[in-house]
Amino acid sequence: MELTAPPLERPLRLKKPDWLRVKLPTGESYRHVRGLVDHYKLHTICESGNCPNMGECWGAGTATFMILGNICTRSCGFCAVHTGMPTELDLDEPYRVAEAIKLMGVKHAVITSVNRDELKDGGAAIWALTVNAVRTLNPATTLETLIPDFKGNMDSVDAIIAVAPEVVSHNMETIPRLYRRVRPQAKYERSLSVIKRLKHGGIRTKSGIMAGLGETQEEVFKVMDDLREAGCDVLTIGQYLQPTRNHLEVIEWIHPDIFKNYELNGLSRGFKYVESGPLVRSSYHAEKHVK
Ligand code: SF4
Repeated sequence: MELTAPPLERPLRLKKPDWLRVKLPTGESYRHVRGLVDHYKLHTICESGNCPNMGECWGAGTATFMILGNICTRSCGFCAVHTGMPTELDLDEPYRVAEAIKLMGVKHAVITSVNRDELKDGGAAIWALTVNAVRTLNPATTLETLIPDFKGNMDSVDAIIAVAPEVVSHNMETIPRLYRRVRPQAKYERSLSVIKRLKHGGIRTKSGIMAGLGETQEEVFKVMDDLREAGCDVLTIGQYLQPTRNHLEVIEWIHPDIFKNYELNGLSRGFKYVESGPLVRSSYHAEKHVK
């Protein structure tokens, strides 16, 4: 008797709602950004994170550069950036980022990085070099840096405070109950302490979370309260999208009305600015958060 393997059973996947439809990346500005990223051999979280807003952001001539390479030492369940052990430190990268930002001609630039947990300072020295290089070449450009937790190394956080970007962001990403699944190498309290330290250093602070990973609204409100207590000024909330089948599944499509409710609740809790909507990402409309 011939045995045939049963068909592979896949879990039911939620169909994407219409409000998550996006523009395809095209146009002159898009090609300009594409050319700069390629020419300067840079990485962007837009591409590495499969961001749905590339059509809009790159089409408007802006992108979020990701420094310290494109291999991350962590393995967050939501993130499409490649996990591994980085082999080198690209000491020229800060200057190439600064050049590219100059040629993009943006008023406000956003930079993020992978985690470099194998480095004693987590990459803080390269971060500082990058901010200084961007400032030197682009004195009129304001800067937002979306930093990692540096494993709680406050000397590294202080190195960011010392170069004083206009906004420093560190994302909580999700509610504490889901940390083990979503951010296994991170700690909720440690991330809050990064925000606290930044605020203490006089920085305008920002954080973001994803919705649709199985959190309740009450749990989101609790994160808001914790962030406010830590001194967070700006909050972003957006729908989690599964980047590949190997990443965490979307548990729920959050309706735009609920995002609106999060925005109103956040404002009433004292955030200076809340960007909340299905397609919101940390760097989405970031120029608005600097004022
Ligand atoms: S929202 Fe941020 S990550 Fe996404 S395309 Fe825009 S700049 Fe890039």
